[in-house]
Amino acid sequence: MKVLKFGGTSVGSAERIKNLVPLIHSPEPKIIVLSAMSGTTNKLVEIAQSLYAGENEKAKALIDALEKHYQAVIRELYKKEEYYTQAKELLRTHFDYLHAFRMDMFTANEEKAILAQGELLSTAMLHYHLSEQGISSVLLPALSFMRIGEDEEPDLKYIETNIRAELGKYPKANLFITQGYICRNAFGEIDNLKRGGSDYTATLIGAAIRSEEIQIWTDIDGMHNNDPRIVDKTHPVTELSFDEAAELAYFGAKILHPTCVLPAQQRRIPVRLLNTMQPEARGTLISETISGQRFTAVAAKDGITAIKIKSGRMLLAYGFLRAVFEVFERYKTPIDMITTSEVAVSVTIDQVKNLDAIIRELEEIASVEVDKDLSIVCIVGSFAADREGSALKIFESLRSIPIRMISYGGSEYNVSILVKSEHKKETLMALNKGLF
Ligand code: ADP
Ligand code: ASP
Ligand code: MG
Repeated sequence: MKVLKFGGTSVGSAERIKNLVPLIHSPEPKIIVLSAMSGTTNKLVEIAQSLYAGENEKAKALIDALEKHYQAVIRELYKKEEYYTQAKELLRTHFDYLHAFRMDMFTANEEKAILAQGELLSTAMLHYHLSEQGISSVLLPALSFMRIGEDEEPDLKYIETNIRAELGKYPKANLFITQGYICRNAFGEIDNLKRGGSDYTATLIGAAIRSEEIQIWTDIDGMHNNDPRIVDKTHPVTELSFDEAAELAYFGAKILHPTCVLPAQQRRIPVRLLNTMQPEARGTLISETISGQRFTAVAAKDGITAIKIKSGRMLLAYGFLRAVFEVFERYKTPIDMITTSEVAVSVTIDQVKNLDAIIRELEEIASVEVDKDLSIVCIVGSFAADREGSALKIFESLRSIPIRMISYGGSEYNVSILVKSEHKKETLMALNKGLF
């Protein structure tokens, strides 16, 4: 069974939803994972924010505007009265649900319930559209099998057991549709896999059912060698290893959710990135095969904070680094980059919720300097030690750019550099010119 995930743009209008039919209608068994229609989750975030702020009228206006948009979509999508009526009832249910939050106190859990509405709508809308075309499909409720544990990480065992049980109810079906992004948490409440999380849903399902292939259908013809939103003349990379793809996703290539590669990698399931607007394009195949190219692609991640921890006697005092890392562990704050010298260690983080407390504790053992508004630029390729000249080529390209940190040698396929965010664009452009 294959897993095919379609992102927000791929279900972004009535026409786009109609265009999915030829891509998913074949005898081959498959599970379709859908995002919300593009723009919907952002609107739901806005609605939740206004409810938080107690701006009831604003929330009402936003909900009404979103409903109008969906009404226009269903008018275009369904031809037969029966299906149109069914879709109208669907909208009524979900929009009444949203309005109900205006009547009462608003909490964080309720925000998650609001954010879940987009995927619940898009999947039901496709399901009805297929029925209207005479194509039978089964709507699988993600909230009955997708779950994160207390650590907020997906609980693969639970997902595996429960999705198998759900699929087992329909032994004759070959087309399943389910919601990306949404899940339940350890307390059974509605939660989600963070923004862009539908990719993660797809790879988790793929891993859980040991799928033969996971396809991520989006609005571009695969992983490009550089960020196409920032740099001109980028091109798709036809093959990537799991490690390379994981680095690019984690360090900012928006086409993939930051941690979605891992479930596929663990079970060695190939992932194909494909373009809904150009289905015949080759796209990118992510597998165990190492491309072997010296420079494969670059990506950048913003919102990085660097912390320099200085202790004159650091090297003499073994156990110092452990004491430093324990502070980050206590505050459940992952470190992305590390560089050391004899007198100092610099680390970067992107979760700053506990930054003040972290600094306070670090100041008990060392002096601390903090730098904000930084970006990590990650260069992915094959940098085995016997491959001469890679570093030279990178640094020659970056001749005119001030670099704050460099990480080289952590793995054979990643070089990361830290720059001020204001220099990100010229860094990506300079690398495009110098490396590709
Ligand atoms: P979806 O809604 O289908 O999940 P996303 O917007 O999340 O789509 O991801 C696709 C977008 O990612 C592309 O339109 C492109 O602008 C952006 N992107 C950023 N970096 C890259 C990259 N290296 N390769 C391809 N796309 C990228
Ligand atoms: N709809 C969610 C979002 O916009 C999940 C996704 O599209 O992957 O973040
Ligand atoms: Mg996405």
